[in-house]
Amino acid sequence: MDKIKFQAGSEYPKELDSNDRLGRFRQRFYIPKGVIYMCGNSLGLASKDAEETLLIAMEKWREEGIKIWNVDDSKYFLYSRYLAKLMAPLIGVDEDEIAVTGSTTTTIHQTISTFYKPTKDRYKILVDDLNFPTDRYAVDSQVRLKGLEPKDAVKVIKSLDGKFLDEDRIIEALTDDVAIVLLPTVLYRSAQVLDMKKVSDAAKERNIIVGWDLCHAIGSVEMDLKSLDIDFAMWCTYKYLNAGPGATAALYINRKHFKTLPGMTGWYGNKPETQFLLRQEFEHQQDGSGWQIGSPTVLSMAPMEGALKMFHEAGMANVRQKSLNLTAYLMFLIEDKLTSFGFSIGNLREDSRRGGHVCLEHDEAYRISMALKSRGVVPDFRDPNVIRLAPIALYTSFAEVYDMVDILVDIMEKKVYEGFSAKRNFVV
Ligand SMILES: *Cc1c(COP(=O)(O)O)cnc(C)c1O
Repeated sequence: MDKIKFQAGSEYPKELDSNDRLGRFRQRFYIPKGVIYMCGNSLGLASKDAEETLLIAMEKWREEGIKIWNVDDSKYFLYSRYLAKLMAPLIGVDEDEIAVTGSTTTTIHQTISTFYKPTKDRYKILVDDLNFPTDRYAVDSQVRLKGLEPKDAVKVIKSLDGKFLDEDRIIEALTDDVAIVLLPTVLYRSAQVLDMKKVSDAAKERNIIVGWDLCHAIGSVEMDLKSLDIDFAMWCTYKYLNAGPGATAALYINRKHFKTLPGMTGWYGNKPETQFLLRQEFEHQQDGSGWQIGSPTVLSMAPMEGALKMFHEAGMANVRQKSLNLTAYLMFLIEDKLTSFGFSIGNLREDSRRGGHVCLEHDEAYRISMALKSRGVVPDFRDPNVIRLAPIALYTSFAEVYDMVDILVDIMEKKVYEGFSAKRNFVV
């Protein structure tokens, strides 16, 4: 599906769906009945494919007990490598540069602790104030572990408008005292895609180690990390990759760093050949898998196997193109039908500058999102005024996008949101 000029009307989305080359994937997902799911940027939906590979892992455990580690050429013992092979093409790296391990937060600890070697003159880590806070918590604690104060050693680029970051200002902040820069590829609220190449090139020119958090990018936008020649990256797999709640995360280590000792070592980072000799000396496996710490969390990894295979079948370029078409269509409908109710679009419009969700803003965003839920739409509210809406290439139809906007119109016309309290739940 190429870029399209959209039309109004309720027949039109059906036409888009019937011309959609990825439409056939929808039936392989479990779409909750009567629900329009727009929250796949927070937690992707379950698929039959993911369920199947999970059940196979269960069966191996049930049938084999401890022998699960040896079946199928030690597939589960080497599961990080197995999954890395499926993941590598999505970001354009070699499969041996990836470890599937831990959570995003622990992979930030692992990578920062590997590369952070502060000296008197070069000791700062550059971050931004729009990134998801856990990244900052991890960076702050890594700085403290070196006996430094985050106030001094963590340099924060402040967004001027609370929504977007300006690459030129980031580059200005790459001063001689900066050791590492860690930034998100896609901002989780505004969906801005940062120019990875521009920032990475500037960092490398200044001998600054550069790492990217791909959480909101992987499975949504195409990336070619090899051509960027960055140092490290990390990402979760439960958002656009649909690998399940709390599914195991992953990290990337540029092969030029394979000989560097991981900041946090554990027995699964040991060479597999000598791991079970259980010697007291750590023998580093010098590739991405050497950045694992403990045992592979097989049951949190198994759904990923089925989920990733779907991306291969679909093709990442097709996934990105459809995602752009879905969000463009949504923005078209918002402008056509919703701006008169006080809504505005809080993301950038250009294809190269926006990720996989649309950021709908309204002063009553919280109560409107509650009203949406009561009507079977699952949105994703972010304080104070943002409703994130993520139509997902593999399972959202254009008709659903159309229907959701119609529901929003109805909610606004009848002021349905006024019937909801503005008091927040724990998980909003
Ligand atoms: C989703 C997300 C995380 C989540 O961290 P976990 O440790 O996997 O819970 C971290 N960073 C960013 C930027 C995210 O979007």
